[in-house]
Amino acid sequence: MTAPMLAAVGGIPSPIVTALTFLVILVVTWLLLTRSVLGRGFSVPLRTMVRPVETAEYPEKPRPVAPRFHGRHQLNRYADGLEKCIGCELCAWACPADAIYVQGDDNTSEFRYSPGERYAEDYQINYNRCILCGLCIEACPTRALTMTHDYEFSAATRQELIWTKDDLIAPVPPGAYDTPHTDREVRDRGWNYYGGLAVTPPTLKGGTYPAAAAAPSARAGEVIPHGELPDPGDEPPDPATVGGPTRPDPGGTAR
Ligand code: SF4
Ligand code: SF4
Repeated sequence: MTAPMLAAVGGIPSPIVTALTFLVILVVTWLLLTRSVLGRGFSVPLRTMVRPVETAEYPEKPRPVAPRFHGRHQLNRYADGLEKCIGCELCAWACPADAIYVQGDDNTSEFRYSPGERYAEDYQINYNRCILCGLCIEACPTRALTMTHDYEFSAATRQELIWTKDDLIAPVPPGAYDTPHTDREVRDRGWNYYGGLAVTPPTLKGGTYPAAAAAPSARAGEVIPHGELPDPGDEPPDPATVGGPTRPDPGGTAR
């Protein structure tokens, strides 16, 4: 049936008949594309043909990731270079893939790695196992462990995917120096690392001490008695009297 023939049908003008014919063809085509398996299959390349090109020039121009993207881990430091990790192993216990190994050890007066009693003498993350879920960083009480935006850490061997503390530790901040520090160096800074009632590490004898300098807590300026460094044979201090991270925190803000 041609257009002139259609035009004769019922006396309808030719352009209207032509438009109606195209409309019917479009509807039938749309129904075929959306209602049949074959049509739905073909609709994918057809839709893609008219979309803007999404080609990414990777790795020359990697795209920025989402702000909360979970990339590889990092063990953080304080601004003075001390390590935030206190070797508590909570991250290892929280890990559903058993990908973290922590070996803690005690800080000493001459070899202090973290403000707490303990530090991570060895720390490993096995990226053969890790699923980058982030449960470990949620468990960390000191924000020592966080996840970066770095996802380019593929390797040729399984051994290379076991990252050690040397691989994970953050760079030393400008003006600071690498661990270990001594207790005297740390106390002379007068910092309050945990936002509690006292500077850390805890001081042990009577005296005065400079106000805490870099504390996130509103009580950071509170000063506790302080004196000479302890002798190795001294009795350990009573946390209830000298303050520090083990002292009860009535405000509940210390972390
Ligand atoms: S991101 Fe998840 S799987 Fe990976 S080490 Fe942390 S808790 Fe384990
Ligand atoms: S990274 Fe955090 S949770 Fe893991 S051992 Fe260190 S302080 Fe504890």
